[in-house]
Amino acid sequence: MSTSKSPLTVKCPTCKCAVVWCSESKFKPFCSDRCRLIDLGEWIMEEKRIPGETLDLDINEEDDFFYQ
Ligand SMILES: [Zn+2]
Repeated sequence: MSTSKSPLTVKCPTCKCAVVWCSESKFKPFCSDRCRLIDLGEWIMEEKRIPGETLDLDINEEDDFFYQ
């Protein structure tokens, strides 16, 4: 029996290509710095959008209460 030492690979979350999981791949789990930045950018955009919308609704409701 031969134990095959195939390197562990993961899929890049951005472009879904195979990334070898080793100390040499600096951007893991991403295949490159570009893919890492794309994923980070999308995260930040979504984080900012959701609280902003709920905050607006809260202010409007409080305004109504003040007038009544
Ligand atoms: Zn990628």
